[in-house]
Amino acid sequence: MSEQNFSRSAASLLFDYRCMGCGLWDCPLCESCALSLAGPMKNVRAIPPALRSEVPVWTMGEYAGPLRSMIVSWKNGARMDAGQVLMDASCRLLPPVPRLLNDATPPPHQLAIVPAPSGFVRSWRGLFVVGLFSDCLARTLGNHVKTEHHDTLCRSVTASEIVSAHVLRRRGGPAHQRGSGLRDRQRNRSHRLRCVADLRDWDVVICDDVVTTGATAQACIDSVTGAGGRVRAVVALAHVPAIGRGRDE
Ligand SMILES: [Zn+2]
Repeated sequence: MSEQNFSRSAASLLFDYRCMGCGLWDCPLCESCALSLAGPMKNVRAIPPALRSEVPVWTMGEYAGPLRSMIVSWKNGARMDAGQVLMDASCRLLPPVPRLLNDATPPPHQLAIVPAPSGFVRSWRGLFVVGLFSDCLARTLGNHVKTEHHDTLCRSVTASEIVSAHVLRRRGGPAHQRGSGLRDRQRNRSHRLRCVADLRDWDVVICDDVVTTGATAQACIDSVTGAGGRVRAVVALAHVPAIGRGRDE
């Protein structure tokens, strides 16, 4: 075995040298899989059937192939480096701010990036990936991040700040919607979220990892709107195409 091969073999014991998208050996992200993150982000508002609101939904692509593999391996903690790659790509591919905010009043104004909530176990294990994604978006849009976990959001920030605001909570109930029908998902979600902050005078971008039926996004929008916020957009890493639904959300 050559010295180089020996070094590589030794390193592979310490690091995962397979492509995070397709499993190809000897590179963390192969050229072909990197192309799935080439963008641009698209507005897929017309696709999720449970989304009633007219807000744009921006994603990097369909929840399939390398993009799906990367998201899954990030969410289950197998490849945390996939998370950084996904966040870097999505922040790079975001539409310009006026377009992202659906032609809302241009900055400066109060803008909150609000992640779809996660279960306690996921947060406790440090796998609240949507929260990390939200923080990354806030840093990209405003070069500033301030994560809030309580109900003092409006008192603790000044005008024109862009914050990552973890202010949505689950009320309980089943942790997953896997296998649920569209109507069940809508009913489950709509009653299970609450917002712990007063969002009056705030523009809000909801972020999530995958938009499946849109039931979660709609529940987030309803909750934020109920707290006085104006939801301008939903940003997600991927969306499930119209055909082939039924995957986990
Ligand atoms: Zn690959």
